[in-house]
Amino acid sequence: MQTLDYSSLLLALGVSATCLAITLMGSWLARRTETFLLTCTFGLVLVVAGIFVYSLYVGEPGLGIGLANFALLLSGFSVIWGAAYQFRTGRLPRGLVGLRMVAAMAIVIPPMLVGFDGLAFIFENLVIAILLLETAREYWRGRQEAPVPVMGITALYTLTSISFMICAAVLIWNGKRVLGAAPNNWAEDLSLAICIAGMTGIGALSLALHQWRLAARHRLDAITDPLTGLLNRRALFDLHGERPVDASTAVILFDVDRFKTVNDQYGHAVGDRVLKAFADVLSANCRTVDTAARLGGEEFALVLRGVLPGRAEIIAERVRSSFEAREMNCDGKVVKCTVSVGVVTASGQPLSFDAMLSGADNALYAAKRGGRNRIEVGSYLHAVASDASRSAS
Ligand code: GH3
Ligand code: MG
Ligand code: MG
Repeated sequence: MQTLDYSSLLLALGVSATCLAITLMGSWLARRTETFLLTCTFGLVLVVAGIFVYSLYVGEPGLGIGLANFALLLSGFSVIWGAAYQFRTGRLPRGLVGLRMVAAMAIVIPPMLVGFDGLAFIFENLVIAILLLETAREYWRGRQEAPVPVMGITALYTLTSISFMICAAVLIWNGKRVLGAAPNNWAEDLSLAICIAGMTGIGALSLALHQWRLAARHRLDAITDPLTGLLNRRALFDLHGERPVDASTAVILFDVDRFKTVNDQYGHAVGDRVLKAFADVLSANCRTVDTAARLGGEEFALVLRGVLPGRAEIIAERVRSSFEAREMNCDGKVVKCTVSVGVVTASGQPLSFDAMLSGADNALYAAKRGGRNRIEVGSYLHAVASDASRSAS
């Protein structure tokens, strides 16, 4: 009866691990950039195979089948650790996964080979417990991305690890170096039950994690300009458009000069590279409190917070001259471009963001009329007047 219960538990574990593998595989198919899901699926397939082989070992213990069980389970859990590392860093550490596999087998297999199967099972439980703890640690380190599902996954891996530790402790307590059969005690049953619950929970939480990542990426896509990676117009207005900007905020508008000619002369792809180069120059001159955005086409904006009088002009000049000096190598041709700039600083009183933009826009047009590749400082009074006329109408 005991054996029957045990094999049905094993079967349940196999089924739940298979379901988890299918769930992860499905999530990966939906968004193929999340390769950690694929790695995890591969690890689980190894674990499922290990569970299957173990159930054969329970029925008829033998050296070959015991070794196969160890090899599959230890490799599977090493790969699952690799998947957790990949979740956190985006990179699969093949070398470290291989190292774990080899080290784990070097610890567990020798006692089995010399007939100390009891010792081998103790080592196996301990090594798996460590691999699971390491897996939990990787998720824990990546928790800020999606705290709820990631902390749930961490807790479940830790719980599963503890159940393997208890198995090892019971075997150590029994003190048998030679068993001649699969370990059979209350801790094994408990561990299996925890593994089944853990697998189901990890499956559900992985799915939640996947959805969380998708939603975060969509939110990011909605506010990012895909060509330059800067914020887009909508994000700029979300950040600054709602309330009057503080005094000592400056708005700088940039418009690439004769950009249509660049497109006409060198092609659209080169034009795109020029825009990216300009975005790089802009980002390089931007502090974390500032906002750089692409308003559309070849127009960009920089919003500076807490600037002293004259500071915005210095930054605008820095961007203008760096871009003028920048040589872009496009298919063997050297392309150079310039930019015209309009600056307005709200020194004195808070103004609406629209008024600031329109002040900067007027200054920008003055820079274009004045010959391009230059900076014009917009009258702050013009922005005030434009605000006044807006509220009057
Ligand atoms: P000005 O010095 O007066 O600003 O002249 P300009 O040629 O820069 O200005 P104009 O507004 O006539 O031309 C802007 C061009 O920018 C036209 C449009 O085809 C091009 N453009 C807009 N968006 C993109 C883009 O994403 N990539 C590329 N390559 N070109 C773009
Ligand atoms: Mg333009
Ligand atoms: Mg232009």
